[in-house]
Amino acid sequence: MITIKSAREIETMAAAGRIVAETLALVERNVRPDITTAELDRLAEDFIRSHPGALPSFKGLYDFPATLCTSINQEIVHGIPSAKRVLHDGDIVSVDVGVSLEGLHADSAATFPVGDVGPQVERLLAVTREALAVGVAQARAGNHVGDIGHAVQTVAEQAGYAVVRELVGHGIGASFHEEPQVPNYGKPKRGPRLVPGMTIAIEPMINQGGAAIRTLDDKWTVVTNDGSLSAHFEHTVAIGQNGGPPRILTTA
Ligand code: MG
Ligand code: MG
Repeated sequence: MITIKSAREIETMAAAGRIVAETLALVERNVRPDITTAELDRLAEDFIRSHPGALPSFKGLYDFPATLCTSINQEIVHGIPSAKRVLHDGDIVSVDVGVSLEGLHADSAATFPVGDVGPQVERLLAVTREALAVGVAQARAGNHVGDIGHAVQTVAEQAGYAVVRELVGHGIGASFHEEPQVPNYGKPKRGPRLVPGMTIAIEPMINQGGAAIRTLDDKWTVVTNDGSLSAHFEHTVAIGQNGGPPRILTTA
């Protein structure tokens, strides 16, 4: 079922989203060679809980054990923070975080370079960020979910990259994952119609190599099958009135 949020609910999600954005900014400032993903997770959890009523959405969601998902290099999503995972110069780390406030969630992700990464890696990050931007621009009342996926897919594939198929964006609100699914591929004018008050997480996952993925033995970490790098950028948005642009809720 697709739920439509009231103006008040959207304001609450925007308040949660502001904490999400500030958490990602805090993590970004601390991403550097030799820090562990467990240290980043601790910073994020402490920061989120310092806001009255705010809770980390991921902790306990489907029994996930942490506040952040931290996915390094060929890891696409759902990497588990660990004191044994040290960031190294030249890595990239995808950081995904959700916050709930008054029972409503917001969800965002970004991929950060660690120290110096080469121009090829910078290009992967820039293209994935652009894919998110064009997807968000299609999130207008009267458009369809397929318009978002088509825009994302076009940017990624024209740059020579592959779109992950098995993992998709989603509606979000009182539940972290709601209908509809929001794939990063698709055809214009296909899929559910977007209406004002829908809130969705748009989250391109773009691989430098092939599209195939697999899940590691920890049952969480999803990686590219060919070991190529993957990037992930995500915003939670609210569909606006009258076909206007959406409101990005996960922004400071
Ligand atoms: Mg997310
Ligand atoms: Mg999401």
